[in-house]
Amino acid sequence: MNTFCMQDCIFCKIVADELPSFKFYEDDHVLAFVDIMPVSVGHVLIIPKEHATNLYDATEESMTEAFRIAHRLGPKVADAFNADGFHLSMNNGEAAWQTVFHPHLHIIPRYEGDGHEPWQKIERTQEQLAEDAEKIRNALK
Ligand code: AMP
Ligand code: ZN
Repeated sequence: MNTFCMQDCIFCKIVADELPSFKFYEDDHVLAFVDIMPVSVGHVLIIPKEHATNLYDATEESMTEAFRIAHRLGPKVADAFNADGFHLSMNNGEAAWQTVFHPHLHIIPRYEGDGHEPWQKIERTQEQLAEDAEKIRNALK
């Protein structure tokens, strides 16, 4: 059993080999496997082995390791499928489409003309954008 294992977390169960997965990379801190309900061919997940809910509570160390592996493997995954690019994304919270509550990075290969819908843009004035930056600066204090 993985030291950081959380009962009833499916990704902790995958780390502990209690559930099957199509793994392709593993080290002491990180596991990478194929997403079983992919949004594009080659969609994979990179997870820290340490359990947390998402980026709100994951340790810096665990996410540093996960992003390090995403940096190393992302382009290789995309190349393996002759993709033209890829998304590196992370959903944090139900409002942001998170469905599995263990931190995970998505590598989603993209192909010219694959028809995926682009992000919907919102209207924001220059003044509002300046206020947004100020709000964030204040939150960082
Ligand atoms: P998210 O919506 O960001 O929480 O993403 C969770 C992802 O995990 C989804 O893309 C699912 O398809 C994927 N997923 C759920 N269960 C498994 C599993 N047992 N093995 C591999 N991927 C899974
Ligand atoms: Zn977990």
